[in-house]
Amino acid sequence: MKLEKYSFGTGDRFGQQGVAQLKAVRMAAERGVDIAIVWNKSHREHVIVGTSAADVRQEADAAVKGSRWEGGYHVDADHIGLDNVGQFVDHCDFFTIDVADYIGEKAADDDISAFVEANQQFTDSLKIEGLERAIRVSPDQLRSIAEKYLFAIKQAALIYDYIKAEKGIEPFITEVSLDETDAPQTPEELFFILSAVAAYRIPIQTIAPKFTGRFNKGVDFVGDVDRFNQEFNDDACVVNQAITSFGLPDNLKLSVHSGSDKFSIYPGIRSALERHGVGVHVKTAGTTWLEELIGLAEAGGDAFTLVKKIYRQAFGRYEELCGPYASVIDIDQAQLPSPDEVDLWGGIRFAKTLRHDQGCHDYDSNLRQLLHVAYKVAAEYGSVYLEAVNTNGEIIGKNVTTNLFDRHLKPLFI
Ligand SMILES: [Zn+2]
Repeated sequence: MKLEKYSFGTGDRFGQQGVAQLKAVRMAAERGVDIAIVWNKSHREHVIVGTSAADVRQEADAAVKGSRWEGGYHVDADHIGLDNVGQFVDHCDFFTIDVADYIGEKAADDDISAFVEANQQFTDSLKIEGLERAIRVSPDQLRSIAEKYLFAIKQAALIYDYIKAEKGIEPFITEVSLDETDAPQTPEELFFILSAVAAYRIPIQTIAPKFTGRFNKGVDFVGDVDRFNQEFNDDACVVNQAITSFGLPDNLKLSVHSGSDKFSIYPGIRSALERHGVGVHVKTAGTTWLEELIGLAEAGGDAFTLVKKIYRQAFGRYEELCGPYASVIDIDQAQLPSPDEVDLWGGIRFAKTLRHDQGCHDYDSNLRQLLHVAYKVAAEYGSVYLEAVNTNGEIIGKNVTTNLFDRHLKPLFI
């Protein structure tokens, strides 16, 4: 099973917007750009929402069948580890193996020595096709890269082997993610990480490194855009070189996590794709749920009343909701509008405040980030929330499709 050159992870917290999401991908196809859609959901999301991987598979299959979609689609077991992969195996054909927690744990001395020995040929001066500068890694630096990453990649191999054993002959796509850590990986490190991936025989098709800058949930990139552009460009070259040097799958590509709404880096990603003819996987997770809230606010009446109740609870449960996401949000709590104030707003005002339109002066990134992590509150409303979403399916669907197509797929690919 080969992951398509361009793929986009949509996520869908409540599993109601598959058709609306697919519509955006179809609009891209109608413009001549084939993008595979990937429904990704992590263990954490499943626990909070009360769903399982089987639900995602059902949603994906139903949306694809109902829309007569003939393009690529996959169901991604997002950020799995050995402790939870079992629940995903039967229902997913895409596995994002997350080993970021193991970065820095040292492998056995013998493993490290063997790795250093095998990669000796790449030290001193390494010419990477497409890169202006030669990569220089001394034997000592190579050893410290091995000490930092080899154990993590060995863990990834353990998880891959488990999936492979469970799946038997059934094909699947493997991604390795290292993004949920503090320090970005340099192109040099990425090269040797991929060397380790090949040494442990993981047929990886996408890799999610930690890039420079902050990838906060649902808002734009925060950091040095030029530096990101350079790094993404270099990483794309490294990936291509790794395919040749290590015999990794020839469709191997970079994966950008928390990729939603990173408007300021989309042009840089796009130009790297064009320059090097490479593909990319962009993963988003919680943005569709925000479009549900926007649609409910626009619908007004009871639907908007429910949105205001959700906001009031989110505001009151700030620590609880934001705690688990502390490293991927930046909220100025003092700037959040009070629930009493929001109660006086109309639905259109609320929608404008939440929608990620940086040109709109009502837009508020604090409120947006708080609601991004507040899906737990909506999940607690259970069928009340789902009924509201389904009753207002048309207006919500329009927002979901427009958000994906106009703000994401278009600037990235079209
Ligand atoms: Zn990630």
